[in-house]
Amino acid sequence: MNKDWTFLIESARQARENAYAPYSNYKVGAALLTTEGEIYNGCNVENAAYRPTICAEQTAIVKAISEGEQKFKAIAVITENGGSPCGVCRQVLREFAPNLIVIVADTSGNHRIYQLAELLPDSFGPEELRT
Ligand SMILES: [Zn+2]
Repeated sequence: MNKDWTFLIESARQARENAYAPYSNYKVGAALLTTEGEIYNGCNVENAAYRPTICAEQTAIVKAISEGEQKFKAIAVITENGGSPCGVCRQVLREFAPNLIVIVADTSGNHRIYQLAELLPDSFGPEELRT
């Protein structure tokens, strides 16, 4: 967990440059690392109707899942002010990676590291539906 995550934060920073955020101007980049070492990037994609807006984390995980990946080690998320992933993203990430490492970075070079379970304690997951 105390590994150097600079490479993943940098990948998220590059993804953030593609953010489509004309309404909030809150640009987000994400970089999702698989257990095999592949990286899937994502950015937020806003919409004039607001509700269809997609978060960077969800863009990254949907790209990865659609390419056949289902095992993830870590995600780096970067915003200007180091904002944490929203509740919906925490739940989406939890579906596939309850033990995910979440690196929350800002564009000034600071970052914090969490386990997903810290951000989403006592969470609901697929095992609840298996009886
Ligand atoms: Zn989100």
